[in-house]
Amino acid sequence: MPGTSPLPLSLQSKLQKARALPSWQRIVNNLNLIRQLLLVFFILRFVQRSFYFLRGHGVLGSIAMVYHAAHKQLYRTFLSLPGVRSKVDKQVESARKDLEAKLTGFDEKVNRYKQLPKEPWTQEQLKTELEQLAAIKRTRWEEGKVSGAVYHGGEELLEIQAEAMKLFSVSNPIHADVFPAVRKMEAEIVAMVLSMFNAPGYGAGATTSGGTESILMACLSARNKARTERGVRYPEMIIPSTAHAAFHKAGQYFGITVNLVHCPGPDYTVPIHKVRRFINPNTILLVGSAPNYPHGNIDNIPALSRLAIQHKLPLHVDCCLGSFLMPCLAKAGFPSPYADEGGFDFKLPGVTSISVDTHKYGFAPKGNSVILYRNKQLRQYQYFISPDWSGGVYGSPSIAGSRPGALIAGAWASMMAIGEKGYIDATHKIVSTRITIQNAIKEHPVLKEALTVMGDPMVSVIAFESVDKAIDIYDVADAMSAKGWHLNSVQDPPGLHVAVTLPMTKDGAVDSLIEDLVEIIKKEKERVAQQAQAGTLIEARKKGNQAQLYGVAGSLPDKSIVERIVVAYLDTLYLA
Ligand SMILES: *Cc1c(COP(=O)(O)O)cnc(C)c1O
Repeated sequence: MPGTSPLPLSLQSKLQKARALPSWQRIVNNLNLIRQLLLVFFILRFVQRSFYFLRGHGVLGSIAMVYHAAHKQLYRTFLSLPGVRSKVDKQVESARKDLEAKLTGFDEKVNRYKQLPKEPWTQEQLKTELEQLAAIKRTRWEEGKVSGAVYHGGEELLEIQAEAMKLFSVSNPIHADVFPAVRKMEAEIVAMVLSMFNAPGYGAGATTSGGTESILMACLSARNKARTERGVRYPEMIIPSTAHAAFHKAGQYFGITVNLVHCPGPDYTVPIHKVRRFINPNTILLVGSAPNYPHGNIDNIPALSRLAIQHKLPLHVDCCLGSFLMPCLAKAGFPSPYADEGGFDFKLPGVTSISVDTHKYGFAPKGNSVILYRNKQLRQYQYFISPDWSGGVYGSPSIAGSRPGALIAGAWASMMAIGEKGYIDATHKIVSTRITIQNAIKEHPVLKEALTVMGDPMVSVIAFESVDKAIDIYDVADAMSAKGWHLNSVQDPPGLHVAVTLPMTKDGAVDSLIEDLVEIIKKEKERVAQQAQAGTLIEARKKGNQAQLYGVAGSLPDKSIVERIVVAYLDTLYLA
């Protein structure tokens, strides 16, 4: 009936008009609507991401980041200016020449082989050549002057490892049916390490080729878990700035954004409230180190565990470096971290994975590490499965396909030969030596004025920095190198790191470290005082390697030059 329509006339006519539109125009209208919806969607996502960014970095932090990015870009542009660029190229080239001379030059005469020998070598020939290779001048780590690198080095253990590896040199755990003993040994290594770290009965794990692979696996598992269970497509993880570089590698390899939480002094552990601010729906993993590589400090794992539980997130504890020392601390008579708050391992309910390097303080041959998970489901997220590969149904637990069974035999034999008692003894020697160095820095009249320990180390690593930057710590590093020491420079802030291993616990080694350090600090202080008196009249001395590299790196807004030098270094490794 006319006049009884519930709609006002104007609207009715509009609707009729709309109906009257030709179909192509209706399609265009719909497309416009979709376009507008998409625009709104992207704007919302941008706003959301900006909000998470701002909350994570803070307003000032975000401004600082934008400023640094601009500064970096300007510097990059400056570096690419024609005149500047050729200068930079020249510098990089000269660094490459230095590296080549240092890495591929030998004091003794050596033969170089770039093609297979036409005729097979005789045993005699081989033996002679191998002995000559072994005699090439190298760092005498046996004297205990090297930080890290060789963790045990005892003759007897080397014999045991060689024997075990020889027995299983052809074995490959990818063929579990062909090599049943290697499968058994691998499972037992994992079981023993799970038990050392207080895993529940349903805990699981896998052996890997090293700490880096263990960390890669933990990050991959967390990423796959978040993707499967929560549909996370833009994964992010939150790591302390002191966490190992392997986490950045995982970020690059697996497309995970790395949110770095700065760890300021004086304690240099990760500030928990800052970790919390970075948590958002894309977060897939929290990380703490026990201890970290740069300073040997242990993050507040109990607090991270509480945060992980509260936000239902996985928490990885990097115990690569701590390895077998960590579970032995208490038994060796030292304080164990956070003992009255649940410790640092699976006893804390929020800890979901732990990486443990059997090839560090587990004293196994290099190429061994273990990744532990709270349960089998987490381990399954690292598996690779290809059911329809033309070569057959395929599955492998970690990165490698074929793997060296010999290394598993070497690790298993080391663990059995050393036993709990052996690891406790080693922990006692190593941690005592670290404490000796620490006490010297805190109490020796010369050292205590010039150096301060970074944080509160509890295990094998100690790092120190220069008080008020009065002396350049990298000059100290270079002077120590000149005396045959191989210590490690850390940056941001500048420091020097020593990882005590068994060779350094030998009689006299640590005393000579302290003596050399005292002598060098005295000289450095005198030099700095002289320079201050003479003003600019005295010409700055030529800087050593460490001071040059880190001095330059620290002062540059953009590290592209450093990156180019690293590329040159890596290239040099493959010069035959
Ligand atoms: C050594 C180390 C790693 C990685 O170990 P690699 O075996 O060299 O791959 C990871 N985290 C920490 C704290 C380490 O010291």
